[in-house]
Amino acid sequence: MKRGWFTEEHKIFQESLRRFSEKEIVPNIDQWEEERDIPRELWHKLGAQGFLCPCLPTEYGGSGVDFSYLVIVQEELGRSTCTGITTGVRVHADIVVPYVEGLGTPEQKQEILPGCTTGDVIMAVGMTEPECGSDLAAIRTTALREGDDYVVNGQKTFISNGINCDWVVLAVKTDPKAQPVYRGVSLLLVPADAPGFSKGRKLNKMGMHSQDTAELIFEDCRVPRRYLLGDEGKGFQSLMQNLQQERLVASIGAMVTAEKMLEVTLEYTRSRTAFGEPISSFQHNSFKLVEMATEIELGRTYLESLIEDHLEGQDITRRVSMGKWWLTEMANRVAYHCVQLHGGYGYMEEYLVCRLYRDVRVQTITAGTTEIMKRILARMMKL
Ligand SMILES: Cc1cc2nc3c(=O)[nH]c(=O)nc-3n(C[C@H](O)[C@H](O)[C@H](O)COP(=O)(O)OP(=O)(O)OC[C@H]3O[C@@H](n4cnc5c(N)ncnc54)[C@H](O)[C@@H]3O)c2cc1C
Repeated sequence: MKRGWFTEEHKIFQESLRRFSEKEIVPNIDQWEEERDIPRELWHKLGAQGFLCPCLPTEYGGSGVDFSYLVIVQEELGRSTCTGITTGVRVHADIVVPYVEGLGTPEQKQEILPGCTTGDVIMAVGMTEPECGSDLAAIRTTALREGDDYVVNGQKTFISNGINCDWVVLAVKTDPKAQPVYRGVSLLLVPADAPGFSKGRKLNKMGMHSQDTAELIFEDCRVPRRYLLGDEGKGFQSLMQNLQQERLVASIGAMVTAEKMLEVTLEYTRSRTAFGEPISSFQHNSFKLVEMATEIELGRTYLESLIEDHLEGQDITRRVSMGKWWLTEMANRVAYHCVQLHGGYGYMEEYLVCRLYRDVRVQTITAGTTEIMKRILARMMKL
């Protein structure tokens, strides 16, 4: 597929990340899945090669390039099939770093961003709480002013990079009585060593075993007021704005996983025989494979236009809401049929499709569920 924005520099960057991933990531996936973690050393290696936050300005150690390089990072990490590092880097570089870059004061940026490009600093974002996820404005974690500090109380859950993070962009209520409630939401930068901040359980998940997902606990946690990110009461708007890029990279992740699952399933069904024929040749199976290839190709075309719109700085809220729900649901349909086409082997851990089936399930839930995407669209369509 032609990409108008793809230059010789993109190609060099892509090939170099692909070589890196084949050498440093792919051979270690099983071990990291078993250990349920990705070593910090990998973050440092990615940082040393300029793969972590290439879009940051050079003064913070980045290369000052545009979002297209993050597309390549997500695609190449996604193709490695190591969802642990792919999601970790996505949250860090594509989702959280842009909050600091976009809203941070010069002092905040100087303190945090250089470490983000080297891997010395890992970022997380804490929105979801045990009692609320989709209804973000209803968060209960409070941050109340006391002298030069905010005193934070509450709990977050399902936080990616939760155990390994050095800083969290935390959604809090600085005005719990505000009406409408979203006007009480602010963002705070919380360092991992803030007194009263503790990391809770590392959560045991259905899939993405090497990915770090955890609970975060704040008990009279004191955060200096200079770590307020953006304006008080404007946190909800900032979250809604940044969620659009988050949904785009989630869509890229789903697309790459679907493509990979089809690739391994085509290979498998062409070589596996039953009743003296390759199983891909039975009409039912060949039609299934054709249907999946069609959905993937149509999805890819839509995704490419979405990437272009985002690169041009257009408001992608409507189209990315459509793309996010459809592409992640499509990837799950593909996962179901690819496992089926592998027969019993599809249920075995040593077959890649088994792990990808588990890993892809969450994609219709994170970054806004399928239902929340449809709710946004229904409102836009004045339904
Ligand atoms: C592996 C993983 C990593 C994550 N990483 C992060 C992270 O880094 N930071 C973070 O803050 N959060 C993170 N999350 C949380 C994720 O964003 C939430 O799980 C998600 O937003 C859904 O919230 P919930 O789980 O509370 O479900 P709920 O909001 O309780 O929803 C439950 C169900 O009800 C549906 N529903 C809710 N409201 C409506 C409605 N109005 N109409 C129709 N249906 C509705 C939902 O679609 C869903 O199907 C992560 C989650 C997982 C599983």
